[in-house]
Amino acid sequence: MEKFDFVVIGGGSAGYAAARLAARSGLKSVCIEGGEEVGGLCILGGCMPSKAIIESANRFLTLRRAKEFGLSAGHLAFDSKAIIQRKRDLAGVFLKHRVFQLTEGEFAFIRGRAEFTDSHHLKVRLLSGGEEEIEGKAFLISTGSVLNKVRLEGLDETGFLDSDTALDSELFPRSVVVLGGGAIALEFAHFYNALGLEVTVLQRGNQVIKEADRDIAEALVAAFRKRGIRVICGTRLTRVERTATGKRVWYQWNGKEQAVEAEEILYALGRKPAVEGLGLEKAGVETNKKEALVVNSSLQTSQPHIFAAGDATGLFEVVHIAVQQGEVAARNAKKLLEGQALEAIDYRLQMFIMFPEPEIAVVGITEREAAEQGLEVRVARHPFDDHGKSIVRGEIEGFVKLIVNAKSGEILGGAVVGPEASELIQEITVAMHFHSTAATLASIPHYHPTLSEIWTYPAEELAQVGARSR
Ligand SMILES: Cc1cc2nc3c(=O)[nH]c(=O)nc-3n(C[C@H](O)[C@H](O)[C@H](O)COP(=O)(O)OP(=O)(O)OC[C@H]3O[C@@H](n4cnc5c(N)ncnc54)[C@H](O)[C@@H]3O)c2cc1C
Repeated sequence: MEKFDFVVIGGGSAGYAAARLAARSGLKSVCIEGGEEVGGLCILGGCMPSKAIIESANRFLTLRRAKEFGLSAGHLAFDSKAIIQRKRDLAGVFLKHRVFQLTEGEFAFIRGRAEFTDSHHLKVRLLSGGEEEIEGKAFLISTGSVLNKVRLEGLDETGFLDSDTALDSELFPRSVVVLGGGAIALEFAHFYNALGLEVTVLQRGNQVIKEADRDIAEALVAAFRKRGIRVICGTRLTRVERTATGKRVWYQWNGKEQAVEAEEILYALGRKPAVEGLGLEKAGVETNKKEALVVNSSLQTSQPHIFAAGDATGLFEVVHIAVQQGEVAARNAKKLLEGQALEAIDYRLQMFIMFPEPEIAVVGITEREAAEQGLEVRVARHPFDDHGKSIVRGEIEGFVKLIVNAKSGEILGGAVVGPEASELIQEITVAMHFHSTAATLASIPHYHPTLSEIWTYPAEELAQVGARSR
């Protein structure tokens, strides 16, 4: 039986970050990865492949608008096989790098499925055959997530695409019904629509993208509808069936039974923590009703020496937080083994970004969260249709929003729905890192004409807040 200081189960974004940091801090570490392929969700079926195909769709959308810019792009067509092949090629490059990082020898790397036999021991079913026993002083569970299949009559018999199969399917359907209103659902809705396919989005709640304020979500929905994407909120899915030409989804809306037909269904109703078969009960590790590992602010589970990070905690389901959690867990494992006080994770700068057109990006607190926490805030917005660079680019949908503490003027949050939102938000993240006020942000030079210059408008509007106390 091999003995380690720190044992990581799952070699995705959280697990790799943790194993590397722990090894570099001097802990004898091992990472156990049991997937068919090494790489984790971000590389194999998440961020990178989805952004690769969206990039193709975005460029197609630009070509479709050529005339508006005085250009002629000739006959436009896309090659679905080539789009998917490009995605595979790019994923292959990222994958190669990740495999190298995992296997270069900084820490031990085992290919197998891990299961706790008690709180300090694992049985690993090796993918090459046979079993290995591992003893650990501290552990990290970073096993990620799997598709959360809700019960829906007829769904399995009718068949559907999920993000994994859609990202690998070389034949795109002519029309799609997207089930769900989160990031994955709306990114795929954008992708198919940009290529000229017919898209309907069915969302259960009254708002898409629950992570964002309603004004942000509504601006995206308005932009989608202008592009011809049907978005129907407040639905309750009832059943699914095959038709002569495709598939039909039945749902309740406003008390009435309705149906929408398309060639294909894209199932995007969420994911759930991948904790099945881990033997958590033998280790004494607790999960909540959503099967997520319950962690405290130091990332400890109900067993203090067993930490958890990433999608398995069911908290955020984004990569930069999976990495941050993995790193905090690794530092805390070392501190625990050395009898030192543990650090708490700081989610103040948490971001949520999604990549349709227009993009959405949120950092820090939202207006809704401020209200829930009883925080007194001031808010200012500025629309892209009143901003030079976005008008030049022909991308005038959406707005930016700044949220500051009503007394001190410190920036507590920012949000963008509009062009390059994923890049624009970073300025507010940096400003918040330094606890900047709106007045400080307004005083920083911004080149003209740039998209980022748009932040100076809400910043100037809020610059007087807290000015006297500075
Ligand atoms: C379509 C899609 C698009 C996305 N786009 C973005 C995006 O743009 N930006 C963003 O931030 N996030 C995005 N995400 C989310 C992001 O991919 C995940 O939040 C992130 O990859 C989770 O990392 P993780 O380390 O928690 O899990 P993973 O990367 O999934 O790693 C878990 C690993 O554990 C292994 N494992 C599981 N059980 C065991 C076991 N018993 N023994 C051994 N190994 C095991 C698995 O094989 C896997 O490799 C997207 C997700 C999807 C599905």
